[in-house]
Amino acid sequence: MSSSTATMDGAAAIIVPGTVPLWAMFLNWKDNTLDPFLNSFVLKTTDIPSVMACTRHFITDYYYTHSWYDILKDYLLFCFIYGIVNKLWFNIKVYGVFGFIRRSYNIASKILFKKLLSSPLLKKKVDEQVQIAIDGIETGLIKDDSSLMHFAALPKVGLAQEQVIEQLEKLNEVLPHTEWEEGRVSGAVYHGGSDLIHLQSVAFEKYCVANQLHPDVFPAVRKMEAEVVSMVLNMFNAPSDTGCGTTTSGGTESLLLACLSAKMYGYHHKGITNPEMIIPVTAHAGFDKAAYYFGIKLHHVDLDPKTFKVDLKKVKKFINKNTVLLAGSVPNFPHGIDDDIVGLGKLAEKYSIPLHVDCCLGSFIVAFMEKAGFNKDGTLPLFDFRVPGVTSISCDTHKYGFAPKGSSVLMYRNADLRMHQYYVNPDWTGGLYGSSTLAGSRPGALVVGCWSTMVNMGEAGYIQSCTDIIHATRKLKKYISTNLPELEIIGDPKFSVISFKSNKIDIYELSDRLAKGGWHLNALQNPPALHLAVTRLTIPSIDSLCEILDKEVTSMKNAPGAKPSSDSTSALYGIAGSVKTTGVADRLIVGFLDTLYKLKPGE
Ligand SMILES: *Cc1c(COP(=O)(O)O)cnc(C)c1O
Repeated sequence: MSSSTATMDGAAAIIVPGTVPLWAMFLNWKDNTLDPFLNSFVLKTTDIPSVMACTRHFITDYYYTHSWYDILKDYLLFCFIYGIVNKLWFNIKVYGVFGFIRRSYNIASKILFKKLLSSPLLKKKVDEQVQIAIDGIETGLIKDDSSLMHFAALPKVGLAQEQVIEQLEKLNEVLPHTEWEEGRVSGAVYHGGSDLIHLQSVAFEKYCVANQLHPDVFPAVRKMEAEVVSMVLNMFNAPSDTGCGTTTSGGTESLLLACLSAKMYGYHHKGITNPEMIIPVTAHAGFDKAAYYFGIKLHHVDLDPKTFKVDLKKVKKFINKNTVLLAGSVPNFPHGIDDDIVGLGKLAEKYSIPLHVDCCLGSFIVAFMEKAGFNKDGTLPLFDFRVPGVTSISCDTHKYGFAPKGSSVLMYRNADLRMHQYYVNPDWTGGLYGSSTLAGSRPGALVVGCWSTMVNMGEAGYIQSCTDIIHATRKLKKYISTNLPELEIIGDPKFSVISFKSNKIDIYELSDRLAKGGWHLNALQNPPALHLAVTRLTIPSIDSLCEILDKEVTSMKNAPGAKPSSDSTSALYGIAGSVKTTGVADRLIVGFLDTLYKLKPGE
């Protein structure tokens, strides 16, 4: 009998085909009052009394025939199965059946390949390959410095100051930095003007010994820090009565603290003990680092394939009672695309979940787009505290704010949110202890450098920078999209970063060729692409970038099949991108980090 006939029988039916027989199997146990319903496979309202009776029967019978030990065992088994079913259900809900199968397959094949690679036969080969790659990294990073003095241990007697300064100069000669002065580096140095460098050096000299941990000893530094926070809050339209923030050592620390605050806020206000965050796949790795440091489960959400903004429908699916934070970027690091903060804000409000907006990179560009006249057509969506759901924003003063490196501002909508990032310890033997950010002692000179830069630049200075940088970026964007059909710009970047991929040429080889021509762009993966963050220094070099792009793309197009060289970015990403070598990329990264602390290659 089908469910429709059951309704026609006149009995209002609770129709759950499939589940009913299962339930009935339990209930029918030692009792056959449910036979008719079992036959029909449909639970009718008229069956309810007998169902209740059977349930009661089942429970009392179970209780009297099982020992406490058995009951406990069954309970634990039930919880175990419930947990698995629950997880399975969540995964199918957020990834879809096929997505879930694909994910499971990927995870399983990664585990399998890892096992395969550690088998004695392959391990030796893999180890050799990894060693070759690490040797390549070492020779790339550790340059010949035989004409310099070396200090594996303290010199027995200190060098005279003139000697130290002489060494500093020699270091710069023997191991010169990449010529950022020409503006051929993506990001990295954002201003670089000698007047500003001079001002920052004076600031550093005057406040060299300052420590923000001792505001009573350095009251001027406290004042300047408070003003830096206030000026940035003002730029991001924070509520003038409740908006607040702290300075930090950089974007990563700002993200770490935003996540920590969200975790502790969720714990204290909602009792969440298994916190989860939902971020776009394009969000900065600082979020992943925060999840790793603070034990937060992280969900990466895919992008809309057209706009390359985070897919809001997918974000919504991940939201559950353990969600402590949603996040978006304006713009993100990889593609320079801004997520839909208004849309995210609506979700954040609807489910009362904090929303962090990562403007670390956007910093003083996104804040001044409107004032620089780039929103005359009203197409720039809101992203700051004017969006009601936004609870925190990070802004790197050391990027487009032009402050010395080691400086960022983390802003909150109110003091309660900020309080949850504080560390407070009233019991320490060393006295009452509290610190607002990750570090204990903090270099006051850096915040003084930041303050000096900001008041020196002023709003007009930043608006001018924003104007010039955006014009230069759009020039490059236009050149690529009209003259280089081999390259495809990802999404519709509106700010100072653009990225491009290609299905015609090997984009990593292009990266190597550009590097040989003195241009250092960032290599991205999933999909393979390159990006450029335009700085003040890049502006006069945009034409030369267009030229070299044109030249290299044309030459690559005409010489297909050229193999990427082995010790280069392309090799690194070529290895890292393949499933077969899972576990190898990790080792290369570790090898890279180890190399940073070596005195000689091969140590
Ligand atoms: C640069 C950046 C950060 C933080 O990086 P730091 O190197 O720690 O300053 C965070 N988010 C985005 C989008 C960034 O570009």
